[in-house]
Amino acid sequence: MQINEALTSIRGIGPGRAEMFAALGLFSIRDLMYFSPRDYLDYSVSRQISDVQHGEYAAVCVKFIGPAKSFRTKNKMTVTTVSVADDSENMQAIWFNRPYVAQLVPKETGGYVLGRMDRQHGARFINAVFVDKLPGILPVYPLAKRLNQNIIRNAVKAAVDSCVKSISETLDSDIRNRFKLAPIEFAIRNLHFPTDMNALSVARRRLSFEDALIFTIVLEIMRSGRSAANGIAFKTENTIDEFLPKLPFYPTEAQLKVMGEISEDMAHSTPMNRLIQGDVGSGKTVLALYAMFVAMKNGYQSVLMAPTEILAEQHYKQLKNIFGEKCALIVGSMSKKQGDTILAGIWSGDIIAITGTHALIEGKVKFKRLGLVITDEQHRFGVRQRALLGHKGETQDEDRYEATNFAAQDVVMANVAPDTLIMSATPIPRTLSLILYGDLDISIVDGMPPGRKPVVTHYVPKSKRVSMYRYIESCIKEQGIQAYVVCPMIEDNDEISDTLSAESVYNELKSNLSVRLGLMHGRLKNAQKDEIMTAFRAQEIDLLVSTTVIEVGVDVPNACIMVIESADRFGLAQLHQLRGRVGRGEKESHCFLLSSSQTQTVKERLKTLVSTNDGFKIAEKDLETRGPGEFLGTRQHGISEFGSASLAMDIETLTEARDAAIEIIKNPTEKNVNLIRLAKEKYHNVVSNIVIN
Ligand code: ADP
Ligand code: MG
Repeated sequence: MQINEALTSIRGIGPGRAEMFAALGLFSIRDLMYFSPRDYLDYSVSRQISDVQHGEYAAVCVKFIGPAKSFRTKNKMTVTTVSVADDSENMQAIWFNRPYVAQLVPKETGGYVLGRMDRQHGARFINAVFVDKLPGILPVYPLAKRLNQNIIRNAVKAAVDSCVKSISETLDSDIRNRFKLAPIEFAIRNLHFPTDMNALSVARRRLSFEDALIFTIVLEIMRSGRSAANGIAFKTENTIDEFLPKLPFYPTEAQLKVMGEISEDMAHSTPMNRLIQGDVGSGKTVLALYAMFVAMKNGYQSVLMAPTEILAEQHYKQLKNIFGEKCALIVGSMSKKQGDTILAGIWSGDIIAITGTHALIEGKVKFKRLGLVITDEQHRFGVRQRALLGHKGETQDEDRYEATNFAAQDVVMANVAPDTLIMSATPIPRTLSLILYGDLDISIVDGMPPGRKPVVTHYVPKSKRVSMYRYIESCIKEQGIQAYVVCPMIEDNDEISDTLSAESVYNELKSNLSVRLGLMHGRLKNAQKDEIMTAFRAQEIDLLVSTTVIEVGVDVPNACIMVIESADRFGLAQLHQLRGRVGRGEKESHCFLLSSSQTQTVKERLKTLVSTNDGFKIAEKDLETRGPGEFLGTRQHGISEFGSASLAMDIETLTEARDAAIEIIKNPTEKNVNLIRLAKEKYHNVVSNIVIN
C-alpha cells in the first residue's frame, strides 16, 4: 500500500465503498490519514456507574450481567434490555430494534460495558457494547451515507499502520523544537488512535499549528503581493456632501466615521484593503454605495458581490436609486440574451455600478475600467474567492480575462489594482481579526440606525417547549405575525440523536399546529428556495422551518419571532447572526433558544445571548469558550481549506504560527522553501503567480 494510492488498495474497500468515502472528500490513503475525527470516546479507563452523567459516553466495569429480555412496544419497536451492575449502581443496557444483540451478551458474570448514559428513566446505557478489554480512546469521524464508525476506523487503521512512516515531515526540527511540536508520524498516529488524552492534545496541536502556519504564510504572501501593486488615487473632496442628499435617511455617527475612512483610503495611491465589520442591520450597505459613488465620480466601475441572489436583488434596488440606468444586476439565473446585453454594457463602460452573486467571479465579465470591488457578507466567501476578485484589475486588452484564472499575473502587467472593501456581519474579536485579516484595515460600525429595537431573547427549558409553540401559534393567529424555526440539521441522524432536524420539527409542528408551514433547507434547488422565500415574504407561509440557509437572507419585517432548536449546536456568533433576521419591523421581536442538552455550561453560554445584543461581546465569549475554530470553520468564514484540526486550535497557536509565518516569508531559507511551496500548492488559486524573493 502506498500513500498516494486510491483507497481501493485497502483490503475490504472496493469501488462501491470507495465511492462512499469519496462523499467525505477522501480519495487516497493520504486523505484518510489526514481525516480528522470530529470527536473521541474515552474508553481508556472504566468508571463507576454512579459517576457517569446523563449524556456522557463511558466504559464501566460490571460485576453482574443479567439475561437479555426483549419485548415489542405498541408502535412495533423491539426493545432489548439487560440488567448490569457494579458496586455503585444498577443499570440497564438497552437497544432499540436490534433483537440480534441478545446473542452477543456475554454469559460470564462480569466485564466491561461501553455506551451512552441516559438517566431519563433510571440509569440506562443506550446501544451498549460488551467487551473483554478496554478499547482505549476511540475516534468518531464525520459520516456519510452507508458508512459507519467501524468501517472508517478499520480503514484508517490499515492506512496508518502501513503508511504513516512514509509521510514526509513538513516542519523542520528548528520549528518543531522552538514551538514544542511533535513529529508528524506521532501526530498522525495519535490523531486517530491516541494512547492517552495528553498524546491526543499534543497531536492535535501539532496538526493545527501546521494548518495555521500554512494559512498564515498565504496571508503573508498575499500581503507582500499587495503592497507592491499600485492603486488608484481617487478624488474624494466633497464626495460625502454630494452623496448625502441621495439617501432617504441621515447616516449615523458610525456610518459617517466609516465613510471618512473610506474616503481617505480611496484617495491614497495604494489600493484600499478594508474590512467593514458591523452587526446585521447596522447599515453597512450605504457604506458600499458610498464607495461605489466615489468610483463613479472618478469615472471608474465598481462591483458589489453578494452571497445570494436574494441579497444581490436587494442591493440592485438600492443601486438604482443612486446610479439609475447606469447599474446592472448579474445573477446565475439570467437568460443568455439578458446576460450578453449587460456584459456588453460593462465592457463598453455604459454600466458603471454592478452587483451580483459569485456567478460574477466564475463568469466572463470583462470590465472597461474597474476601480473598486466590494464583497458583502464576507464570511460566506473563502479567502480564495476574495483574492480572485480582488485581482480583477484595469484592462485594455480584450482577451485578458477570458480564463477563470486571471489574478496576480494580470495585476503585474497592468500594474494597477482596484480598491477592495469587504463587509462582514460577523463581529470578530480584535485579537483574531488581526491575524485573519492582518492584511486589511478594519472599520467597525458600532451602534444601530435609530428606531431599531433589540431582539428580546429567551432561554426556554425543555419543559416549556410545547407551550412556547402554542404561544407562537396564538401570536400568528391573533397578530398576523410570522415566525422562523431554525434547526441545525436537515434530517435526523442516529449519531447525533439529541439534535432536532428541520424535517422532524416540520413534521411535528405540521401535526400539532394549525398554521401554514414551510420547510426550507440547502438541499432544495435554488428555484425552490426562492419560491418558498417569496411565499414567506408574501405572507402565504406563517411559520418557516429552516436550516441556516436563512442566515444570510432577506428582510421580512413581519417576521418577528425566531425559534432556534438545538441551539447548543451553534456558535454564539452564529446564533447572534441568526436572530438578526428578526427585529426588522415595527413590532418587538423575540428569539427563543431551545436545547436538549441542559447542562450548566450550555445554559450559561446561551444566556450570554439573553443578556447582550452586542456582537463583539458575544464574539469574545465565543473565542473564550470555544476557541477560534468557530470563526475559522466553513460556517462562519468559508475558509474551508482548514482541516477540522482547526477545532483544536487556540488563539495562542494561531498567534505563534503567524509569527513564524512572518519570519519564514522574510527569510525563506532552504528549509522553509518547502513550506512555502506547500502553502502555494494548497492555496494555488490565490498565490500561484505571486513571486516572493
Ligand atoms: P446590514 O449592515 O445588515 O447590511 P443594511 O445596510 O441592510 O444593514 O441596513 C439595515 C436597514 O437599516 C436598511 O433597511 C437600511 O435602509 C436602514 N438604515 C441604514 N442606515 C440607516 C440610518 N442611518 N438611518 C435609518 N435607517 C438606516
Ligand atoms: Mg447587508
